[in-house]
Amino acid sequence: MEIDDDLKSSTSVAYISMEIAIDSNIPTYSGGLGVLSGDTVRSAADLEIPMVGICLCYSSGYFYQFYNEYGEQKEKEIAWNFYYEFDKVEKPINMKIENKNVLVSAWLYRVIGQSGHVLPIYLLTTEIEGNEDWMKKMTGSLYDSTSRWNRIVQEMILGIGGIKLLKSLGYNNIKTYHLNEGHGSFSTLELLNELGNIEKVKERVVFTTHTPVPAGHDRFKQDLVDKVFENRMPKEIKKLADDNGEFNMTFLGMALSRYRNAVARKHRDISKNMFPQYEIDYITNGIHLPFWVSKPFRKMFGRKWPNWRANPSVLENAIELDDLDVFDAHIENKFNLINYQKGHSWNLLDEELITIGFARRFATYKRAILIFHDIDRLGKICKNNVQFIFAGKAHPKDQMGKDYIKKIHESGEYLYDNYGVKVVMMENYNMDLSHMLISGVDIWLNTPNRYREASGTSGMKAALNGVPNFSVQDGWWLEGYKMNRLAGWAIGPDDSNPDDPGVSNSWDIDSNAIYKTLENEILPIYLNHDEWIFRQKNAISLAAYFNTHRMVTDYADRAYRLKRQKPWKYFS
Ligand SMILES: *Cc1c(COP(=O)(O)O)cnc(C)c1O
Repeated sequence: MEIDDDLKSSTSVAYISMEIAIDSNIPTYSGGLGVLSGDTVRSAADLEIPMVGICLCYSSGYFYQFYNEYGEQKEKEIAWNFYYEFDKVEKPINMKIENKNVLVSAWLYRVIGQSGHVLPIYLLTTEIEGNEDWMKKMTGSLYDSTSRWNRIVQEMILGIGGIKLLKSLGYNNIKTYHLNEGHGSFSTLELLNELGNIEKVKERVVFTTHTPVPAGHDRFKQDLVDKVFENRMPKEIKKLADDNGEFNMTFLGMALSRYRNAVARKHRDISKNMFPQYEIDYITNGIHLPFWVSKPFRKMFGRKWPNWRANPSVLENAIELDDLDVFDAHIENKFNLINYQKGHSWNLLDEELITIGFARRFATYKRAILIFHDIDRLGKICKNNVQFIFAGKAHPKDQMGKDYIKKIHESGEYLYDNYGVKVVMMENYNMDLSHMLISGVDIWLNTPNRYREASGTSGMKAALNGVPNFSVQDGWWLEGYKMNRLAGWAIGPDDSNPDDPGVSNSWDIDSNAIYKTLENEILPIYLNHDEWIFRQKNAISLAAYFNTHRMVTDYADRAYRLKRQKPWKYFS
């Protein structure tokens, strides 16, 4: 079944992303970028934004993670059977990669919004008849790091193949191509072919940058670019993308767009320093609340505010929720997590203890092991009071991230042997596990090196479910904590402190701040039942702002420049 022509001709926004987390078990995501894209299309469908999504179909996925007896990460492929949820696009397009003709087809997935609006997503694939075997593997796995060649080819398929496919399917009214990070920047080349000059391309493109980490921006060697494009890349484009002799995909995207944005206020400041020649706005990330709300909280919100899904700004008044309702809802989530955990690890958590959760990709800048910096001090504070639950994948090629995982296992053993403090490490962090963790723990911990976390979103999921954040002030939490200082706790200095704006990221200072706040503030408040529930309700109130309905509305106004129509005018 195809998408009908009316929907195609009314579609004016194409959202192009290397990752879109449609479903927990469909491996089209590795972390925050993909989850954000998924939440974006879910909200766009609810708000009836006329959008189509483009991503790749990774037939062997992003990996399944487990630990061996030494606490080391091991990986398996995820085999997925996508056929029954997807429709096949019948007519492949043809594109040139190096000196070969490669056929690109797609699987169609429909995101259905709250009132039935359909948002089509096309997952491009080369695994089709007519391609030679080695071509079929081009779209095999996400962020395949075996070669730069494979990476650039995937980005050609996403960018160039994506635009060609939309055209061949009859999407003839696209006014905005939203490049979600630089992976899709080659789209601009195909648009240049079609429109003839750079100014016209710029009128159609908007670009979002997602990381302040320089290594997170894709760069390719010029001779690789020359090779795969067979020297067809226009000189003026090469000049715009030039980054000290390398071809920078973010430069390309920024240079050829009419609007650029970062994903949080601080991230905008950093991005301006990285790309001083461009104007850069910011639209702070959010989460799709109906997707991330746990069942007991969904029921409670529904009773209190029947229209909360369409108008999440009512959560501002979370303080009016009934204390006992909040308590019961959270306990249900906590039991649910602990029961699940009992089936998956030898070390059994205890319902009575305050449970601190930490789950994210094990990129080194996230400093997952900071809390163990003075492990004996931690052990003394936590003894009979606190337990920990961790989860997260390290990229298969990231040895340092893998060492962190091993170190967490070792620290856990030490804490248990010496203080009886439990540290549980869950396998295979994905969106399903994330749902359980962000709602079932009592506190959500985040300790990144400052100004490396563009936004972060897992803390927003926790807040929505009445779990206060305990976090370094970076990304969204710089905004969230200032909005409501009762919604959680800050770790260490923030960017306004002239003596130490935090950039030193000292492990001594930051871990000291963790221990002090944990011992002197968090534990006493936790023991005071009413005060704790008060904090939980303040956490929930943040969801009124940190959600993708608000975020997508901002994109529609400022980036896509859509005229507001009734169906998505939820923020009055
Ligand atoms: C929400 C989420 C993320 C992103 O969270 P961060 O705060 O950026 O670490 C990553 N992975 C999964 C599975 C998630 O659900």
